[in-house]
Amino acid sequence: MTTSNYDEFEGQASALGTPNRALTIGAHPDDAEFGAGATLARWADDGCEITMLIVTDGSKGSWNPDEDRADLIARRKKEQTEAANTLGASTTVHLGEVDGELEYSSRLRRDIALQIRLHRPDVVLTHDPWQRYQLHPDHRATGLAAVDGVISAREPLALTDTGTDAHRPEAVLLWSADEPDYIEPVNQQWFDVKLAALLCHSSQAVTSMGDAADSDAKRHEFAQRLHHWHEKSGSVLGAGPAETFKRLTP
Ligand SMILES: [Zn+2]
Repeated sequence: MTTSNYDEFEGQASALGTPNRALTIGAHPDDAEFGAGATLARWADDGCEITMLIVTDGSKGSWNPDEDRADLIARRKKEQTEAANTLGASTTVHLGEVDGELEYSSRLRRDIALQIRLHRPDVVLTHDPWQRYQLHPDHRATGLAAVDGVISAREPLALTDTGTDAHRPEAVLLWSADEPDYIEPVNQQWFDVKLAALLCHSSQAVTSMGDAADSDAKRHEFAQRLHHWHEKSGSVLGAGPAETFKRLTP
């Protein structure tokens, strides 16, 4: 496997530069790592303070009908902490909503807005709620509540009972976007960190990583798939391997 050098992308990447603070808002443990893991790793190494907000408890993340849900929730929390440490993220926050049953609501929007005000990120990264044919309801609900939460967070007359000051992030980056217009290159160094962070989620190795925990061969296969996904993502914007996003300005 080869990935290109970061230098190749100078000029078309990173108009944002490295933010001082970033907040990821993912439906499940591992979503932010898939969508933006290499970008997060590079930013963290460059001094960005990263908080990872995980909306659901991950309690449906198994194909084993006999799985103990309490055990699974505890295991996935631990995996998330390991993945965050691997990426260099400083904080993880779990909202603890029930996996697979998340619904958009003004309460969810408010909970997320409050986290945005508390952590005061320059950049928010989340699911594209308008991605066509996005099957997972948690991804749709999280993306929409996150985008709407950014609006609530920035309005001084919203959430006045919380004792928090309004906060307007500089940018929102939507991963797995239908119409990406923002690119962060993925070189070998940050690819490796992203892969390592994903592999921390060993409970998900069967369901979302092609049995990557099973053998070196399976892990290599998964790494190849991830690399091809980066190549495909970057090629849409005429670049090499990359994580791409739709960028919104709140
Ligand atoms: Zn997910």
